[in-house]
Amino acid sequence: MKLAHRGRRRQTERESRSQNLEQWVPKTRLGKMIQEGKISSIEEVFMAGLQIRESQIVDALIPDLQEEVININLVQKQTDAGEKSRFKAVVAVGNRDGYIGLGSGKASQVRNAIEKAATDARLKIVPVRRGCGSWECGCGRPHSVPFQIEGKTGGVRVVFVPGPRGLGLVASEVSKVILGLAGVKDCWARSYGSTRTIPSFAYAVFDALKQTYSLITPADWVK
Ligand SMILES: [Zn+2]
Repeated sequence: MKLAHRGRRRQTERESRSQNLEQWVPKTRLGKMIQEGKISSIEEVFMAGLQIRESQIVDALIPDLQEEVININLVQKQTDAGEKSRFKAVVAVGNRDGYIGLGSGKASQVRNAIEKAATDARLKIVPVRRGCGSWECGCGRPHSVPFQIEGKTGGVRVVFVPGPRGLGLVASEVSKVILGLAGVKDCWARSYGSTRTIPSFAYAVFDALKQTYSLITPADWVK
């Protein structure tokens, strides 16, 4: 489902997020540390292994965060009162420079489902390690994935292979949006299974990007 009013919605959404940030009263220790200026970068949060439990933390530390609606589904559910329909949204957030989050939300209105998903995506944000990783390129700059990565979710499997500079993203539309938000510019993609199930596909891409930090490569041993 494509949204005709997407551009306008995103602008009002951005305004409400920044308003929200101005009125923010942190509830967690990490939130308070950020407001007191004791932590001033998202890198510090991940280096210290701290968990993000308030979406405003992400807005405060990554002011140029971008948001993309990946999918909206109508979910029908039988209840005692009859059939109830709700919308389920999947939203990705990223700064196009090494941070990506993917989240989902359900509500009876599309707009609310998107907002919930956007908040969830902020809470799920992770760093993405980038690199050259391509033997054809060898430039050593962080334009691609550092090595081959693989992700799986609900019957979908995706594989991303490092590519040379200038290649672009040789991937499906959903992969391109998520990789772009993460700041990966060049790579090849392969996918297997029920790839038309967009939410599962998006989560498989997210799962693959998480592998960039959970895998330790021989190059890390010497560091
Ligand atoms: Zn390169």
